[in-house]
Amino acid sequence: MTDKSILDKAIKKYSARHVLERPQAVLFDMDGILYDSMPLHARAWKRMCDLNGIQADENEFYGYEGRTGASTINILFNRQYGHGADDDLCKLLYAQKSEFFKAMPEPAMMPGAKAAVDAVIAAGLRCVLVTGSAQHSVLDRLERDYSGAFSIRVTGLDVKHGKPHPEPFLKGLDKAGIKAWQAVAVDNAPLGVRSAADAGIFTIGVRTGPLPKGALLEAGADIELDSMDECAQMLKWIFNDYERKADFHK
Ligand code: CA
Repeated sequence: MTDKSILDKAIKKYSARHVLERPQAVLFDMDGILYDSMPLHARAWKRMCDLNGIQADENEFYGYEGRTGASTINILFNRQYGHGADDDLCKLLYAQKSEFFKAMPEPAMMPGAKAAVDAVIAAGLRCVLVTGSAQHSVLDRLERDYSGAFSIRVTGLDVKHGKPHPEPFLKGLDKAGIKAWQAVAVDNAPLGVRSAADAGIFTIGVRTGPLPKGALLEAGADIELDSMDECAQMLKWIFNDYERKADFHK
């Protein structure tokens, strides 16, 4: 389990950029944060690659999380053939990957994610969804699984630039009507963490997949944790700190 000293250090370091005010919302990524869906995406990518003779390691897809399908396919093509894939081929290969994903079982809720969302609600803050996904099957489940906590949503359909561009998280702040220093972001992918950090938000990176230790700190996270259970605890520490400060100033 993580200890609270990393929070104090991280807030001190963040204060070089902004003074973190009492948070008013927490911006959550979806795949790999609210749902344990990344292994299914990685497996679907690997199956598509095997079918087409493209060499790939299942784990490498965690590093591409947040990218568009075409961008991922071009990485694979450039490595193997020394050139990218044209648009039609990208569409075809991405459609194959999507079919493999759809045929898989429904992804489970990420352990600890409900506790993290409940902690946000209990502290009187809002939850905001910031995902590159546009999969209705998973988006529709949010209502059922997270008790309507995510009425404010930024999906892949709302932005011009996906992660790692800061636009998705900036849009989330905008929809919530708050500034970067009044929020906390939670993402599991280096590109997602980069997007949130570049939007100026205090960012918790959660290593729910097989990324090397430190990969999310390197991507710009203020804090790196190993599970959503740890994230739930960290959020409670943040909220309690601000409650105490509010009491202190009364
Ligand atoms: Ca993610």
